[in-house]
Amino acid sequence: MYKERTDRLLALLKAAGAQGALIHKPSNMRWLSGYTGEGLVLVADGLRAILTDFRYTEQAEQQAPDYTVHMTTAERTAEKLAAELVGAQGAAVLAFEDDEVTVRGMKALTEAMPGVRFVPVDRRVEMLRERKDEEEIALVEKACAISCAAFEHMLGVIRPGMTELEIRFALENALYRGGAEKLAFDTIVATGPNGSLPHAIPGNRVVEKGHMVTMDFGARYGGYCADITRTVAVGSLDDKQRHVYDTVLQAQLRALDAIRPGARCSDVDRIARSFIDERGYAGRFGHGLGHAVGLDIHESPRLSPTCGQVLEAGIVITNEPGVYLPGQCGCRIEDTVLVTPDGCRRLTPATKELIIL
Ligand code: ZN
Ligand code: ZN
Repeated sequence: MYKERTDRLLALLKAAGAQGALIHKPSNMRWLSGYTGEGLVLVADGLRAILTDFRYTEQAEQQAPDYTVHMTTAERTAEKLAAELVGAQGAAVLAFEDDEVTVRGMKALTEAMPGVRFVPVDRRVEMLRERKDEEEIALVEKACAISCAAFEHMLGVIRPGMTELEIRFALENALYRGGAEKLAFDTIVATGPNGSLPHAIPGNRVVEKGHMVTMDFGARYGGYCADITRTVAVGSLDDKQRHVYDTVLQAQLRALDAIRPGARCSDVDRIARSFIDERGYAGRFGHGLGHAVGLDIHESPRLSPTCGQVLEAGIVITNEPGVYLPGQCGCRIEDTVLVTPDGCRRLTPATKELIIL
């Protein structure tokens, strides 16, 4: 698997005029080699190398049997070691991650390898990562199952008087008890007026009757992320809140219907957005409809007004419309969705019907 991924990257690079690449981004290193530690990955024809220090060499050997592990030291820096390895390979053009390597890092690389021309990798690894294979899909699905179970658990936990922080603690506990190895991202819990902040930071705000509580969370499993948002009601809701909830739910279902191979990302976004606009909430859905999910929580492509990409089977992407009314309330409903050959499948089957606790 890792061998095939590396070969595909090298073929893409070759078409772009580069003979190899230096990979620094942890999720790209992991996807190419299986290695999860620090350091860098260097690939070229006949070269599959991990450069790291003493703390990680044994781990790298265990995790990445297709790669050779080279130990860096204070004198033998990663840049010098890379120069030696590349020199032996005779690669004259190397790609580097232009969205990852710092200016300082780039200076060290060019000084160590004066004969090498560096070209941007232009997110080619990320492009290869867009379509997930069976094994990756199974890991995302497991992360989603853990997350859905944690949501079900929370339905018996949330009650008036709890703070957002208490809800977060209970939710994250449920994720870990269910088998999460980590959280996919910082959990968002927002109650009442805080719900109008799409990325609300949980605090000491207390859940009251008549509040909507939005929880955006996900487990990480086998390195892969789940991403789910559910909004529940506590006590009862007024007509305005019900209208907001129903609008978001209908927008989400309409977009879900449109997710299939061949659909343009911007068109799927527009389906949800124009529905929300028609319902009287123009300008109150201020973020994109979704983002791909994998080893990273935010991957490409995006369901956004500006993403012209077309969906393909194997892409795992979120569908998360929201309506945010400052000072009043907010609601977001999000599924992680797999694009299948004939449509799509929700990986987060937890109910989206309005639940009043
Ligand atoms: Zn989310
Ligand atoms: Zn999301």
